[in-house]
Amino acid sequence: MGHWAFLDSRLDSGGLAGYASFPLMDLVSLGWNTDFEKAFAPYQAKGWVPARLIRETPINYSAFLGDGEEVDVILSGRLWHTASCDADLPAVGDWVAVELGNENHDHVIRELLPRRTCFCRKMPGNSSQAQVIGANVDVVTVVTDAGPDFNLRRMERYFTLIGRSGAKAVVLVNKSDLFSPAECREAAAEIGALWSEAAVHVTSAINNRGLKVLKSYLTKGTTMCIVGSSGTGKSTLVNQLYGEEWQWTGEVNETTGKGRHTTTSRELVPLPGGAMLIDNPGMREIQMWTDETTLRESFADIEVLTAGCRFADCRHRKDAGCAVRGAMERGGIDPARYESFLNLESEIARLRKRMEKRQMAVERWAKRNNRVKARNLADRIQLEKDDRGEI
Ligand code: GDP
Ligand code: ZN
Repeated sequence: MGHWAFLDSRLDSGGLAGYASFPLMDLVSLGWNTDFEKAFAPYQAKGWVPARLIRETPINYSAFLGDGEEVDVILSGRLWHTASCDADLPAVGDWVAVELGNENHDHVIRELLPRRTCFCRKMPGNSSQAQVIGANVDVVTVVTDAGPDFNLRRMERYFTLIGRSGAKAVVLVNKSDLFSPAECREAAAEIGALWSEAAVHVTSAINNRGLKVLKSYLTKGTTMCIVGSSGTGKSTLVNQLYGEEWQWTGEVNETTGKGRHTTTSRELVPLPGGAMLIDNPGMREIQMWTDETTLRESFADIEVLTAGCRFADCRHRKDAGCAVRGAMERGGIDPARYESFLNLESEIARLRKRMEKRQMAVERWAKRNNRVKARNLADRIQLEKDDRGEI
């Protein structure tokens, strides 16, 4: 069994006490706790081992074992067949019970342990289907600023999602070097007033004032994901966390939605201090979900005025009796905002088109993946039968 000896002995002794002494990586650094240990107990008797999923590929999963070894694992046929929806299938961040294989047999995921927290999104167009974008995330950090990105409605939606998932919310009002201390304090206070459970901090990533705050949450065993609009400083912060070894690029592939890392494609990445970051396409998309509504809401005051336009099909440009244009001319609406309002519908149409195109690509991609997984499963079942001499 080689390196598995330590696991067996530890699990036999029960409790987490003797565990801190393992060097390199250990289950606790990976987020393992007494609840998972309890859930895992029945499987331990079968000789299976706990593992945490770090990546989903088109044909299988990758997982960290307790000693930090990275292995490929496949889904058992039973788990595949008994899953009533996508949310029942293992996802990045999940803890699973793995039956270890050997040269001739794959490592197999036999059981999915109950999730402590779960980030789900409803699939567009199919409201009953939910997709897990990250399991067992402890902290979600939202990065924003006190200026152009500041938007309480959007923040409220982040809080709804985070609250539903069961994770803790941390907000960084970043780029404090660009705003007055009073502006930053005020922005932080307004965000904090939305949800008393959220922790709000004023930071400046380029002055290394964000790193310290982030690190205070990244205690051993913590899994964090970082979300927020592009340009708020997420990559800057993450790259500071990792130093030179691993770089996160803000760039997202339009078709697959995948962010690009320069050195690894892992979606759950361990940090030096025994914490982890989850960064997968779904997490990055969070910022896109709400854009249309947020856009509309930021023009709600003008929308109200349109009721006063003479014609129902008023384009609010040169139309006679336009209440919106009238308000602008009387100085009630900033001319620049008026222009933005005129472009709002085409802005939204463009946004919608981009998301639809992207969604179609993602769905095609997911379908293909599922087919390949299913086909591989059938192949494997056949291979196992062959091995046993069955036909
Ligand atoms: P991301 O899209 O959220 O990953 O944002 P980036 O980390 O790529 O940052 C976008 C830009 O903002 C870059 O030019 C950064 O150098 C800059 N930036 C990040 N943090 C700060 C900060 O605290 N202050 C200032 N002034 N600029 C920052
Ligand atoms: Zn009008």
